[in-house]
Amino acid sequence: MKYYSTNRKSIRVNFREAVLKGIADDQGLFFPEKIEALPEEIIRNFQKTGLTELACTIASIFVKNDIPDKVLSEIIEDSLNFEIPLVKVEENIFSLELFHGPTMAFKDVGARFLARCMGYFTETSKTITILVATSGDTGSAVANGFLGIEGIDVVILYPSGKVSPLQEKQFTTLGKNITAIEVSGTFDDCQKMVKQAFADPELKKRINLSSANSINIARLIPQSFYYFFAYAQLAQDSLPLIISVPSGNYGNLTAGLIAKRLGLPVEIFLAASNINRPVPDYLETGEFKPRSSLETIANAMDVGDPSNFARILEMYDHSWKAIRKEIIGYSYTDDQIRKTIKQVYKKTGYLLDPHGATGYLALKEYLYDHPGIGIFFETAHPAKFHTIIEEVIEENLIIPDRLKQYNKREKKTILINNRFEDMKSFLLS
Ligand SMILES: *Cc1c(COP(=O)(O)O)cnc(C)c1O
Repeated sequence: MKYYSTNRKSIRVNFREAVLKGIADDQGLFFPEKIEALPEEIIRNFQKTGLTELACTIASIFVKNDIPDKVLSEIIEDSLNFEIPLVKVEENIFSLELFHGPTMAFKDVGARFLARCMGYFTETSKTITILVATSGDTGSAVANGFLGIEGIDVVILYPSGKVSPLQEKQFTTLGKNITAIEVSGTFDDCQKMVKQAFADPELKKRINLSSANSINIARLIPQSFYYFFAYAQLAQDSLPLIISVPSGNYGNLTAGLIAKRLGLPVEIFLAASNINRPVPDYLETGEFKPRSSLETIANAMDVGDPSNFARILEMYDHSWKAIRKEIIGYSYTDDQIRKTIKQVYKKTGYLLDPHGATGYLALKEYLYDHPGIGIFFETAHPAKFHTIIEEVIEENLIIPDRLKQYNKREKKTILINNRFEDMKSFLLS
């Protein structure tokens, strides 16, 4: 498999190079040159195989020749060493719980797979510095995914005061090969600084920079595995399948579109967002207008200029009409999210987190006047947002030990302004 750049000015590369570079020389995003549908029989057979075997089949399409089968299956077993259960919430509505990994958010899947692929590739190359911007969950998943992996240093940029205290502790207390930079600014500032770093000739020459944001293709590919796994667990294929994805930077949804190209029978995808709605607006009007992000209680989705949108456009030859046939956009306010968390909890006993709640809401809205079986993704454990949830349901939550352990550790960060030069001098020092 070859990967081309969405800006189409760079040469095509193999998986290894796409992963190590993170972003193409022309600043485009890498994307597989062609994605062919798997035979139906293989997809049907996924109902009998476990997650790892299913994942190996799909992964080998994308990494063949770059990682030997045996190593690949070790990487997958090690990355996906937690449950991804499909839980029935109510009639025709299921939650795919993606939060049973070490940092209790779905980004563990992509970050752990990426870290292990990179670890394998660096055995034969020089030390890499991973530069990543986070609005919360990326930082914790990447930091924990890469912790202790040899030959790789990780530098995480995050907006000061704009991630939840628990999230912050998950990536500012680890030490070892992980450094956290606290930026006085917004997530968009952080993302811009990272983009600028990749385009800076001096940095490029002096350090071996790479990315672990969902612009890295190795974060994206493993996310397509669980779409198939959700379908396999459903074992019910008479009704059209609807998948609702709480979206911010649109990596998760892009992985779903890849799964569909690979043959997964999805009728329609719902792009569920908070009030940061550049994509829902695009789907409605045909015009894509990036903007500054607004703060919400579903903060991992506070993205005003989603990077993966370029890949979505590419997959549909930039045709608004074609995109609209397969994706419907929804956008919800904090109030609606809060109400939903409360109502669903009271009615069914199922506790949503603010991100999952947008997915649930979109699904409800769609299924109101369309038939179908719906799956929404629960992208984070509700306890990660316990202050918000406790206020909404007026009950105390039990915080899992996995999250509590971080609280005991000491935060260590480097404070800088939202100026590229400040970050650059840190990286060169
Ligand atoms: C990152 C994240 C999202 C958004 O995923 P994208 O791939 O950026 O669209 C949703 N929910 C949670 C909890 C996240 O951490």
